[in-house]
Amino acid sequence: MKKIIKHLSWFIQAEWKQYTIMFILLVGISIIALAPAKVLGEAIDVIVSSRLTKDRLYFLAGLLLLIPVTRYGMSFVYNYMVTKEAQKLAYQLRQKYLKHLFNMDSKFYEMYEKGDLISRVTSDLDAITQAATSLLEGIIFNVGLILFAILVMGTTISWKLTLISITIMPIGITILNIVRSKKRKYIKIHREIYADMTEKVLESVEGQKTIRAYVQEENDLKRQNEAIHKDIESWRYIVKYENWFTPMFEVIYGIAYILAFSFGTFYIIQQEITLGGLITFVAYIGQLYGPITSISGIFTQINNAHISIDRFEEIMKQSPEVHDESDSLNIIEFNEIQFKNVTFKYPFDKHPVIKNIDINIKKGQTIGIVGPTGAGKSTLIRQLLREFNVSGGSILIDGKSIEAYKIEDIRNLVGYVPQSHILFRRSVDENILIGKPNATSQMLDKAVKLADFEKDLMFLHDGLHTMVGESGVSLSGGQKQRLSIARALIKDPEILILDDSLSAVDAKTEDNIINHLKEFRKGKTNIIVAHRFSAIHDADVILVLESGQITQRGTHHELIRQEGWYKTQFIEQMTMR
Ligand code: ADP
Repeated sequence: MKKIIKHLSWFIQAEWKQYTIMFILLVGISIIALAPAKVLGEAIDVIVSSRLTKDRLYFLAGLLLLIPVTRYGMSFVYNYMVTKEAQKLAYQLRQKYLKHLFNMDSKFYEMYEKGDLISRVTSDLDAITQAATSLLEGIIFNVGLILFAILVMGTTISWKLTLISITIMPIGITILNIVRSKKRKYIKIHREIYADMTEKVLESVEGQKTIRAYVQEENDLKRQNEAIHKDIESWRYIVKYENWFTPMFEVIYGIAYILAFSFGTFYIIQQEITLGGLITFVAYIGQLYGPITSISGIFTQINNAHISIDRFEEIMKQSPEVHDESDSLNIIEFNEIQFKNVTFKYPFDKHPVIKNIDINIKKGQTIGIVGPTGAGKSTLIRQLLREFNVSGGSILIDGKSIEAYKIEDIRNLVGYVPQSHILFRRSVDENILIGKPNATSQMLDKAVKLADFEKDLMFLHDGLHTMVGESGVSLSGGQKQRLSIARALIKDPEILILDDSLSAVDAKTEDNIINHLKEFRKGKTNIIVAHRFSAIHDADVILVLESGQITQRGTHHELIRQEGWYKTQFIEQMTMR
């Protein structure tokens, strides 16, 4: 419980007024919950002793009516407040979590799977929110009710009878706790299995087109079924222990009733208590059942919340290796980028993907990068996005390490068109404007023209306003590429990176785009990774990357005169035409 309070103290402190009101309301509700039995007992004693007058009857009936009405009013206000607080907390935690995810670097995303990250912001966050709201209710209301009931039973009826009847209860609670503590260890395992199941469902939904294309529905369903089965199995363990306790506890609780009745009747005969007293007493014993089982359940809830807090905190504690320092420098343009002996290894790999890379990129140059698939071309250019820190050597921008600059500034320098194109479930223009949300319509038109996307618009029923993405119109591979290029070009970035982004367009379109770049990006830098040599034919420098190393460099004319990969591939591409 301490852990929950510590973890949520920022929220409780900010909301202390609401929490105080809710606390008072809960105490009030638990006191009121005990009143009807007391009034009933009083009424019976009055009737039995023939002291019932008309006025007294009205008074008692009025009281019995007033009690539930007051309770209803208080519960209404409490429920309203608690729901509002729960929503507020869930919203704030979700905001914190998502903001944190945006700050994380690529290494973090290699460490955690999407399904796992989602389940932490759904089921774990729900458990935490529940802890902060319903736990308060559970503890204050139930503990309050138990204490008040014992106090009222002891002071107004009989301490002796109270002690006799409730001594059995700690035994019941102990049994409850033993069984439930066994259950706890399965909860954690279940959470992990649940996260795995979420991951599999996500994968199937994302990959449904491929699954159908390869007629793999049955295999996929089998995989899903296995995951679901595992989830059910793990839940069964939990339920098994849960089912254990209920009958056992009922038996023990029954003993409390027997004790109350038999000793109560004895004390009536002894004239130590009245009949009304015994009826009130037995009613209270009945009223204690709910709170006692709830309190035991609260331990489970607290434990669930602890597990969830740990899982939530684990993510919140991660700090990105790639991060800004307080003295990080601003940069809006550059003159020269140098790769000095750069080596890079992915965080969980043993071997470097690119090795001893030396490159000089001058502002305004166009650099072409070619090489076999898997040579490390994407890895090389992505170093300019600062997703990871390099493993060896350094990247200098105007003589200073890339790490000395603000990450956002570095990313703002770059317009990156990745190999796989991400379309958001928005209209075409909104998808392009992601590159520069405050762009004017002229800028938008220009980007569309430069990316040679204009001709596609007439095939889209709503032109630029056509919805694309999962639920909208599907674009062809080439259209997606052109939209992505427009998204990067609208930024008019200092450095444009095309990562094999012309692979799905025809030769004519490729020509158009390359010519537009030559014409409109004078003085700006372009880095083009390509498979077709026509795309990099006029580059100032072409780098050939093989097995992570630069094996050739020069202009097209220089390279076709050298023996090596470039010449061989060039001849092959020429003969294939
Ligand atoms: P290219 O662009 O030349 O086809 P890549 O840079 O995409 O090559 O990949 C180079 C190598 O790095 C490949 O062996 C690939 O499997 C590996 N690789 C790419 N991305 C990752 C990653 N995120 N984690 C681990 N290895 C990766």
